[in-house]
Amino acid sequence: MALIVQKYGGTSVGTIERIMAVAERVKRWRDQGDHVVVVVSAMSGETDRLIGLARQLQERPEPRELDVLLSTGEQVTIALLSMALQAHGCPARSYTGAQVHILTDSAHNKARIRDIDAARVRADLDAGRVVVVAGFQGIDEHGDITTLGRGGSDTSAVAIAAALKADECQIYTDVDGVYTTDPRVEPKARKLDRITFEEMLEMASLGSKVLQIRSVEFAGKYRVPLRVLSSFEEGEGTLITFEENAVEDAQISGIAFSRDEAKLTVLGVPDQPGVAYQILGPIADANIEVDMIIQNVAAQEAATDFTFTVHRNDYARALEILKATADNLGARQVLGDPQIAKISLVGVGMRSHAGIASRMFSSLAEEGINIRMISTSEIKISVVVDEKYLELGVRALHDAFGLDQEPVV
Ligand code: ADP
Ligand code: ASP
Ligand code: MG
Repeated sequence: MALIVQKYGGTSVGTIERIMAVAERVKRWRDQGDHVVVVVSAMSGETDRLIGLARQLQERPEPRELDVLLSTGEQVTIALLSMALQAHGCPARSYTGAQVHILTDSAHNKARIRDIDAARVRADLDAGRVVVVAGFQGIDEHGDITTLGRGGSDTSAVAIAAALKADECQIYTDVDGVYTTDPRVEPKARKLDRITFEEMLEMASLGSKVLQIRSVEFAGKYRVPLRVLSSFEEGEGTLITFEENAVEDAQISGIAFSRDEAKLTVLGVPDQPGVAYQILGPIADANIEVDMIIQNVAAQEAATDFTFTVHRNDYARALEILKATADNLGARQVLGDPQIAKISLVGVGMRSHAGIASRMFSSLAEEGINIRMISTSEIKISVVVDEKYLELGVRALHDAFGLDQEPVV
């Protein structure tokens, strides 16, 4: 008998028919003799709808109140799924995050899970019930409702799987696995049977929203076997593996991209110690995360240019702060561009193959795509381009690296 945690995303529970289909699938696993815990998202579009309601009242609603509102989406689906299971003759119980003590920190709207008390879940499983838990939400030490950031139900599922020492955590979604890139952007994208944990971590952190980054971090930390599969069709999905040698011998495994970027530049800052800190310190103090950074070498006049990227949601505030800093530093000018995107090649094969960066740059050049920033690490290369070239760039790179073909071993 196995203990399985299954997570169903918004589209998979988007209608009553879909919820009934989920109930049937869950029941099949249980009838096989497995213990099943189900984590669900809100019905597709619901979280956006709730955010829209809040914004009609306040431009920036108080994070605590927003969490009270957003957590209702998942409360609807746990109840509906439990009813659907019961209607299929499968005993089930629903729980909110607070009821199963998903304890988080108090960072509303982006809380981190600290601890889960799995006793109640275990007792239900032992009594033969399916346990249905609301994803995306928890409770802090003051008893306030928190949420885990967009896509956070993935993280709820993996954290519950870790707490229960589950045999597998299955993420059911609207694609049948992890692809070489988002199949919505490149229809020739190919499903991967396996991807290494490290690559999945990079893909998620570089913008592939198929798994929330924190869920992958959790899976790594607690060694949770993780699989992405479709709730619409049968199949093996994609296994996130910890064995590096078990994957295809590809140079590149996938292409991630993100539209959520914005670029800021300050021109003509003094080229002297402490300047990077003076520029980025106030940005960090405002809780804004900086992604890529470039500082040019100074030309004759001992002044330099400094460019960095932030999340597009933080652009307006970052620009305001940077303008104030630029005045203090006597900089020449501040420039900003919120219409940029980041494209990244990811693959553990980069460690053993040379020339990947140059092939990347040449295929972007052939399409006339200007590269605005570059950053590399051991298993990834990222470039910043104008947002309008995002799709073209992803497809050109997918072709250039033959990602639609099975790699030759
Ligand atoms: P859910 O609501 O089930 O959590 P998401 O929309 O969060 O689903 O994630 C699934 C979506 O992720 C897919 O529909 C697909 O468009 C997108 N996606 C982005 N990158 C990839 C990738 N590399 N492989 C598969 N899907 C991807
Ligand atoms: N409902 C939340 C969201 O839309 C959490 C999730 O679906 O994972 O972001
Ligand atoms: Mg998701």
